[in-house]
Amino acid sequence: MLYSRYFIPTVKETPSDAEVVSHQLMLRAGMIRKLAAGIYNYLPMGLRSIRKFENIVREEMDRAGAIELLMPSVQPAELWQESGRWTFYGKELLRFKDRKEGEFCMGPTHEEVITDMIRREIKSYRQMPINFYQIQTKFRDEIRPRFGLMRGREFIMKDAYSFDVDSSAADDSYDRMYQAYIRIFERCGLNFRAVEADSGTIGGSFSHEFMVLADSGEDGIASCDSCRYAANVEKAEARPAQPVAQGGELLPLEKIPTPDMKTIADVAAFLKVTADKTIKTLVYASGSGEFVMALLRGDHELNEIKLKNSLGWDEIEMATEEDILRITGSPIGFLGPLGLKEKVTVIADLVVEGMTNVAMGANEKDMHFINANPGRDFPVERFADIRMVVAGDACPRCQEGKLEMWRGIEVGHVFKLGTKYSTALNATYLDADGKEQVIFMGCYGIGIGRTVAAAIEQNHDENGIIFPLPLAPFHCSVVALNAKDGGVMAAAEEIYAKLEQLGVETLFDDRDERPGVKFKDNDLIGIPLRIVVGSKGLAEGKVEVKIRKTGEVLLLPVEEAIARIK
Ligand code: ATP
Ligand code: MG
Ligand code: MG
Ligand code: MG
Repeated sequence: MLYSRYFIPTVKETPSDAEVVSHQLMLRAGMIRKLAAGIYNYLPMGLRSIRKFENIVREEMDRAGAIELLMPSVQPAELWQESGRWTFYGKELLRFKDRKEGEFCMGPTHEEVITDMIRREIKSYRQMPINFYQIQTKFRDEIRPRFGLMRGREFIMKDAYSFDVDSSAADDSYDRMYQAYIRIFERCGLNFRAVEADSGTIGGSFSHEFMVLADSGEDGIASCDSCRYAANVEKAEARPAQPVAQGGELLPLEKIPTPDMKTIADVAAFLKVTADKTIKTLVYASGSGEFVMALLRGDHELNEIKLKNSLGWDEIEMATEEDILRITGSPIGFLGPLGLKEKVTVIADLVVEGMTNVAMGANEKDMHFINANPGRDFPVERFADIRMVVAGDACPRCQEGKLEMWRGIEVGHVFKLGTKYSTALNATYLDADGKEQVIFMGCYGIGIGRTVAAAIEQNHDENGIIFPLPLAPFHCSVVALNAKDGGVMAAAEEIYAKLEQLGVETLFDDRDERPGVKFKDNDLIGIPLRIVVGSKGLAEGKVEVKIRKTGEVLLLPVEEAIARIK
């Protein structure tokens, strides 16, 4: 590919609306452009990476015996009404009507559609096991689309669905997919963990998530440093919370030392959420006693409330508004004063039904507790449902190891569904005795764009992307240092032609640009290998080979350089 004839619109400045590094770099490297919130154009370089990953996924799905097909994005409401998810799925499901007033949705996932196909096509036990997959565009009207392809509203997913005669056969299908997932993410060179997970709106009996480890990840993971136990903290076996704060000194508000958070905007900035009239999104928190007390006092308008950070505000984690609504049925949920100093992630099922009927008695007018005392200052039953996972705790599985905590990006998810959808949609088959039986299902997703973004999250430096070879849009670039120098251009062209002949996907940087510009762009777009052709080296018959990842530079005779790359 000739750089001058191609389309790589690189950008120097870091885009201000991109919070995570992969989003910044994908914009800067000209891989994607935003069309609307959570909806992106895949530019040629982005598309090449995506196709690379799709092909790895396709190869491993085929190898595992799954069969490719393609289902539509537009799905009729009737199927979703049959499964019950038309009501249950909520606002993430984008619904619309056609000209005949027929109701439809954009598919966020395809259990209903595939089960409908299967109930028509599969009649006999002889037709199973069978597993279908597709690589297809999904739509989920995410409440907060963000981080570029990481959490889009329109995004590409590989989804597979297995069909078996019974539960143990379904377990085998699940294991085969699980192993295929391990191969897929290993082939991409990613640092990941498979963790026990919650089944969410998809449902089913058990599931594992594949998490790429990254600080920017939205999920918390606990894993044992000794056995193989690893789980999403939402799912992790946790011990009951034990409020440890003692004392409880009642102080006038003005005497409580506060960080400078007097307005909702201060709090929002601190908590890294969008400032709104009310804080709607606090569900995970630790050591936030005074803050919670303040909320409970009914001062929703945080403008007047002074906050005190007694115990590590840094540990506060945010849940989405959706989470809160799900858990509490009202937009305000909280988790209270545990008085914990350890690094913890807390999961609250605590319900506060409207602020007024919570009589805490912790504060008097203009007075406020520090180190509130559970059981004395508020009813301890309120905390009965709180579970927590603490770094350093004994592993709940082996009891010997200690728990470590990580942040992760969910790139894949495998579910054992059991008969949830087959029962709802009446997908049955005839067994060897001619008896009607319900089909057992599993489903298996991989976020295609999200995985490419996660790979960048794990592989970059201050100069740009460092693509793992299997995901790189091109394997190698050939940079002609001076496009006006006929000798340099001729030599570079020859190298480019030879590499192409050898099947090395090569980007030939033939642009009439200063070397500095070319090097900056080449670093930014992250192509793993680079051959630099300049007049000085050529005088000795040599070119430079640079390895993007290590920065290593080798001065080699042309033939040797080509042999190296190959
Ligand atoms: P999340 O917890 O991040 O919202 P999910 O659990 O809702 O994801 P699944 O229903 O398990 O997602 O879908 C399978 C895979 O699709 C996920 O593991 C993820 O890689 C990808 N995916 C899900 N939602 C998005 C999205 N909004 N943008 C990009 N990829 C996504
Ligand atoms: Mg989701
Ligand atoms: Mg999830
Ligand atoms: Mg999931």
